[in-house]
Amino acid sequence: MNFEHYIAAVENFPEEGVTFRDITPLMADGPAFRAAISEISEFARQKEVDIIVGPEARGFIVGCPVAFDLEVGFVPARKKGKLPRETATIDYGLEYGKSTLQIHKDAIKPGQRVLIVDDLLATGGTIKATIDLVESFGAEVVGAAFLIELEEFAAREKISEYEVFTLLKY
Ligand code: IMP
Repeated sequence: MNFEHYIAAVENFPEEGVTFRDITPLMADGPAFRAAISEISEFARQKEVDIIVGPEARGFIVGCPVAFDLEVGFVPARKKGKLPRETATIDYGLEYGKSTLQIHKDAIKPGQRVLIVDDLLATGGTIKATIDLVESFGAEVVGAAFLIELEEFAAREKISEYEVFTLLKY
């Protein structure tokens, strides 16, 4: 399937000079969305994952159906202050400013095999923070999977010791 056909390029969003890759047309097409999720599920199955972790918010959209497909659990990594119970927290730098991700303290057990899923890999800052947070539980990150990779940022160099699966590269 030509997945590229379902990704909209939006110029100068969210700011001047940036080309935003919008996945909502892919999500809106049932067969295309299912085919895209199935490709990530196939990768995840080979890795024998126990749990999928997805960063807020598009990591929920892509990660949840993969977890459902594999009949494994999904754990959200949420922005600061959204989770109601005790959390593990990581602060990380973004291109402009800072951000925080949190996971419930009892959501991941030591030794569990974790696949991290998000919509898009750009600089790798989000995925690196999510990896570090998951590893703080004593769990094993067995890979990361994305719909889209923006190769210009060379994020793979930042996470070279992890297997990275992406459906589309720009
Ligand atoms: P990174 O941390 O620089 O790798 O950026 C990846 C994060 O930013 C992901 O969680 C994406 O959802 C979001 N992101 C960055 N650029 C885009 C884009 O062009 N389309 C959709 N999401 C994006």
